[in-house]
Parts: sequence; C-alpha cells; structure tokens
Amino acid sequence: MAIFPFILVSNTAAVNDQTLIYHEKIHLRQQAELLIIPFYILYLLNYLINLTVYRKHGQAYLNIAFEREAYQNEANSTYLKNRKWFSWYRYL
Ligand SMILES: [Zn+2]
Repeated sequence: MAIFPFILVSNTAAVNDQTLIYHEKIHLRQQAELLIIPFYILYLLNYLINLTVYRKHGQAYLNIAFEREAYQNEANSTYLKNRKWFSWYRYL
C-alpha cells in the first residue's frame, strides 16, 4: 500500500518483491501528480462506479484506472522514467 510518501508492506519479505514495490511507486507518482487527496477521492469514486457495474469487489478493484495502470506496468522497471503526466487517465 502506498500512502504518500510511504510504501507500507505487510511483512519484511515484501520489501524484496521488486514488482510489488514498483507497483506502489507507480501509485506514489499518481498520488503526487494529483496532490494526494484528489487521488483518494478519484480512487474511491472509480471503485464505487466499478462496483455498480461489476457487482464484485475484486473486479471493481482491478478495474480502477490507477490499479490498471499500476498492474499493467509493474514489471516494466523503466515505465516511470518514460511515463507522461496523468497517464492513469488512459486506463479509464
Ligand atoms: Zn495498487
């Protein structure tokens, strides 16, 4: 979990999970460009809209634009270097 400017992990093994850490770094970038609080508002709104569409927590969560961007690029270690501002918008 990323809460700007920190990445919180559930156990010490997670610290060495580069994919997980990169996923959370993408969220930190999303939070920074939206000045943090708007990120959480948009995240929650996107989740609630998805919940009305999919009617299942898992699908609603995985289709949040911020999550879609993070999951699709978490294995690409150069993604943040080339990422344009507000790229999460393309995942709506
Ligand atoms: Zn995520």
